[in-house]
Amino acid sequence: MKRIVALVVLVVLAGGAWMFRGPIALKLSDRAVATNMQADAVAGLPDGLHAFVCGSGSPLPDRTRAGPCLTVIAGQRVFLVDAGEGAAEVLSGGGIPAGRIDRLFLTHFHSDHIDGLSAVALQRWIGSAATKPLLLVGPPGVERLAAGFSEAYAIDNTYRTGHHGAAVAPPSGGGFAAQAFAMPAGQDSVVVLNEGGLKVTAFRVDHGPVDPAVGYRFEYKGRSLVVSGDTSANPGLVANARGADLLVHDALSPVLVRRLKAAATKAGQTNRAKILEDIINYHASPEDVAREAKEAGVKAVLLTHLVPPLPLPGLDVPFVGNARKLYDGPLWLARDRDLISLPAGSTKIERKRLGR
Ligand SMILES: [Zn+2]
Ligand SMILES: [Zn+2]
Repeated sequence: MKRIVALVVLVVLAGGAWMFRGPIALKLSDRAVATNMQADAVAGLPDGLHAFVCGSGSPLPDRTRAGPCLTVIAGQRVFLVDAGEGAAEVLSGGGIPAGRIDRLFLTHFHSDHIDGLSAVALQRWIGSAATKPLLLVGPPGVERLAAGFSEAYAIDNTYRTGHHGAAVAPPSGGGFAAQAFAMPAGQDSVVVLNEGGLKVTAFRVDHGPVDPAVGYRFEYKGRSLVVSGDTSANPGLVANARGADLLVHDALSPVLVRRLKAAATKAGQTNRAKILEDIINYHASPEDVAREAKEAGVKAVLLTHLVPPLPLPGLDVPFVGNARKLYDGPLWLARDRDLISLPAGSTKIERKRLGR
């Protein structure tokens, strides 16, 4: 009898909750929206260098990872390195206001590194009523890219200004501007920004046949972080990563990619099998990165641009392989919304995850 009463009560309660699910969802949504509207994860950060992962994926579709994107925060200045598909969404989820983006450094012009640019630029423009277009800094070719993207979105920009007004969407703030840098003759690196205690150096990497391709070293108040861009193992990376607090490096597992290739071959997908073979030698393996990190004496490693996707828990084990035996420091696989902090005036390296 008691059981029947309990069951009836449960059914009535469940029915009540079902009836009120709309108002309950609205209440929860209002609360989440109010929190998101005020979100500014940058304002609360201590002075120092910070790396926020706004995309840890690759060109291979991955539901859990946006395309390649790293936010570098120096003091209160916010920079992006590349913007793959979904980057704007991850920035929003982590509470990083796009309106804060100072400029965006490009490592190279592969589609997976640029196909989130338009969404980032739109959020920045509208989010801050920006009066200047988003500045893209990169190797030669960046001017063509900026002009092309600007042209592609020129019509849309007129709609935004026309609809919301010039105070909200100033016509001068839509689209992209470009600042190209070239390596001085005989050199493989060049300082591309040096102000307010922040120094950013671009350096050549090896992503052949893709050329130019660069990485970036950020130095601020005694802390340093290096972003490899896409590269295979190469001495230039080691030289430019020397002594860095954090190395953010692309990583491809030949073991896992070869398994995909075998499946593609078996399925008669010869094009896909060829591509999977081609990509192996222009990215570093986790073991390559571990060896380079040790040689360069970096304090921590964050592997990103993970190829292939890792849809099952446990796949990180074959992905990492022997890398952790080759390198003593912390070696992490990046997740979207990871934040690595390097506070000024300390040797601390802290890792946490922002937002939802
Ligand atoms: Zn690439
Ligand atoms: Zn890539």
